[in-house]
Amino acid sequence: MDELIRQAIAESGADYTEVRIERASRSQVLFRKEKLENLEHSSEFGGIVRCLKNGGWGIAVFNDISQLKDKVKEATRFAALVGAHTDDEVQLAAIDPAQDTIHAELAEDFRTVSLDEKKKLAEAYNQILLSYDKRIVATTVRYTDSFRELTFANSDGAYIVQEIPDVTLMLAAVASDGPQNIQQGFESLGTAAGFEYARGREEEAKTAAKRAVDLLGARSVSGGKYTVILDPALAGVFIHEAFGHLCEADFTYKNERMRKILQVGSRFGNDDLNVVDEGYIAGLRGNVPYDDEGTPRAKTYLIKNGILNSLLHSRETAARMGVQPTGNARAVSYEHEPIVRMTNTYIENGAHTFDEMLTGIDHGIYAIRAYGGQTMFEQFTFSAAYAYAIENGKVGEMVKDVVLTGNVFETLRSIEMIGNDKKMFGGAGGCGKGGQFPLPVTDGAPHIRIANVTIGGK
Ligand SMILES: [Zn+2]
Repeated sequence: MDELIRQAIAESGADYTEVRIERASRSQVLFRKEKLENLEHSSEFGGIVRCLKNGGWGIAVFNDISQLKDKVKEATRFAALVGAHTDDEVQLAAIDPAQDTIHAELAEDFRTVSLDEKKKLAEAYNQILLSYDKRIVATTVRYTDSFRELTFANSDGAYIVQEIPDVTLMLAAVASDGPQNIQQGFESLGTAAGFEYARGREEEAKTAAKRAVDLLGARSVSGGKYTVILDPALAGVFIHEAFGHLCEADFTYKNERMRKILQVGSRFGNDDLNVVDEGYIAGLRGNVPYDDEGTPRAKTYLIKNGILNSLLHSRETAARMGVQPTGNARAVSYEHEPIVRMTNTYIENGAHTFDEMLTGIDHGIYAIRAYGGQTMFEQFTFSAAYAYAIENGKVGEMVKDVVLTGNVFETLRSIEMIGNDKKMFGGAGGCGKGGQFPLPVTDGAPHIRIANVTIGGK
């Protein structure tokens, strides 16, 4: 295959040519209530050619490697057509072409585990959820794994082979004690590892069921402004969804208002606020040793000491804005072109313990994990999965229906304290953008304390 790829690129008439080939195997087990809704194993092979000619992109997708040379010609033809009609020529920031091979090391390779064994494990978790309490009315157990082998080559001389494993487990229960009161509990797990990661999750299954049942008895929070402590998971979702997406330069570049707000050098928070997107942290599912343009991983400070330090870039956006690529051009599969995406995104540790953060809060909210959310430019709405009242500096009773809303820039400025207990979360879902979902990402943070957060209650 190597020779075929090198030849097709060498014979291309484009100004720049890249080929990305993916061989993937995936399996999924899905239980809903007692029913096995999906049990499947699939394999796929495909590739994409992207060519640049006179500043225009051309793309062609294929499933048969023998078509490669024709597809390079096709993409070049499209690129020339686009290039001839564009007044906004694409340039690519220069990077050193890498030659590298990245192997995945799995303790228990899920490709060698039978689908039946995966089914049995999921079924056992489902039984734990179903039998926890008679008020459990619905459950979801979803196990997925995927192993992707990516080959990337371009006309600059890059040739990179990467193996990307991914395993996820969603354990969710719905409890109800009447038509007015329906509550959810879930544990959402995902990482770049083998089947061992999915084993031994009985406690998480019980925890998910217990939480759904406990929430039945929780009181609804009353709406208002509170000092809020976000747990590391919710703070991670907040920084990814509300802020990280705004830092993706393909979005920012096209939005004049956001481009003006997101000026490198502007202040976005206190001196102790540091926000990072890091392309490789051992074991995390957001890892991108090389992105889908062959750019090596980077540790990019979005915010450093409260000041906007960088946006996230592809080679194209980096060239447009006159900066270095950051290794954030990612595609969810070979059928898509790379766009600017996050990898492992987090708030760095601060100095405070959780107890210090509680001190001085007479009447606040401790909000834990996200259960859905929406953002619209700088406005966000997140539902906490569950929460506790904070009374006189102590964590008190469980409360529900905690919906946080606000303006991300005001909220970042209102961060009063940053904890010293950062955790990272892969989750069982993924990030969605531009029709590309679910892209494996990881996000995290320490506990953070924010003043004056608007909480909507029932
Ligand atoms: Zn996202």
